[in-house]
Amino acid sequence: MEKRVYNFSPGPAVLPLPVLEEVQRDLLSLPGVGVSALEISHRCPWFDKVLEETEGNLRKLLGIGPNYRVLFLQGGSRLQFSMVPMNLLRGTGKGADYIVTGSWGQMAMTEAQREGKIRAAYNGKATNFDRLPTDKDLDLDPQAAYVHFTSNETIQGVQFAGEPATGNVPLVCDVSSDFLHRPLPIDRYGLIYACAQKNAGPAGVTVVVMSEDLLARSSDQLPTMLNYKLYADEKSLLNTPPVFAIYVVMLVTRWLLNDIGGLAKMHALNKQKAAMLYDVIDSSGGFYQGHAQPACRSLMNVTFRLRDAATEGAFVKQAEAKGLHYLKGHRSVGGIRASIYNAMPQEGVAALADFMRSFQKAH
Ligand code: PMP
Repeated sequence: MEKRVYNFSPGPAVLPLPVLEEVQRDLLSLPGVGVSALEISHRCPWFDKVLEETEGNLRKLLGIGPNYRVLFLQGGSRLQFSMVPMNLLRGTGKGADYIVTGSWGQMAMTEAQREGKIRAAYNGKATNFDRLPTDKDLDLDPQAAYVHFTSNETIQGVQFAGEPATGNVPLVCDVSSDFLHRPLPIDRYGLIYACAQKNAGPAGVTVVVMSEDLLARSSDQLPTMLNYKLYADEKSLLNTPPVFAIYVVMLVTRWLLNDIGGLAKMHALNKQKAAMLYDVIDSSGGFYQGHAQPACRSLMNVTFRLRDAATEGAFVKQAEAKGLHYLKGHRSVGGIRASIYNAMPQEGVAALADFMRSFQKAH
């Protein structure tokens, strides 16, 4: 096998090695089935069990009660930027509030504006999305159909550690880049959505967890393939689902339950990993400068610049020579971004922290 490098990509991203090993082992023939997960029909007992276990694992991990539905959709999280307002606004006569804390939240709001009356309850653009609002910074409409926020802004590296207070207005959250990284008080949410390709599996499937209450809002007039209610009625089998991607999500959720021991343990590990990098930044005397204000720092995407921006290219190149790949920051923020999702091993983060210290010494 070609040697694996440490993959700090923001997504598609690193997957747990035991998951990849199991996929590899069974790739040609699933035990007891005789064909591969890439070839098998979605209407067969094997896939019925995969769907059932994946949903069950997610329910266990997140404590999702029977009054919530779990859907497996396609079109990535960006399709949710449209499906959310189409399903939750039509027929309500109401608008929605968006808390914009980074590029993805901005994009979600812009898409929603094609559908209905949308207000920014907060927009952090003026400070280049380096911080999060406190509850009193929010300009909320108590009559809104929902409030949307982005729990972790993948590009800027700012992350909510809890939920904004929105009173009785249902909370909708794009959890794409921190799904399953900590336990979530799911009852606080009306709907969450996450593309799989960061913390849950490969690209191709998007998980939506939504309350029965909100499901009732989906209008019959919606296009079939954009209607949450129809996906729920058909148990996500409205058309051919991404079988392979869902199978891998099943293995990842199994890994979280059995190998890691649940989301509280995962959260503790994530905090340890992130601290290793933020400690290097904070003790560098300004050589490394974090983008996010300390209180808003992401455990998933660590964003920083070098004091001497001209050395950032060398940083990325030399890191790569050490097996630390895909560290270049997003063009809108610049600098460096280390994405350290659930599956990034502690050793990978330690190797990056060591490299950062030695790079500073050499410069
Ligand atoms: N929201 C967030 C927070 C993201 O990080 C991403 C992907 N980077 C998206 C939405 C868009 O996801 P997709 O590419 O699956 O549409």
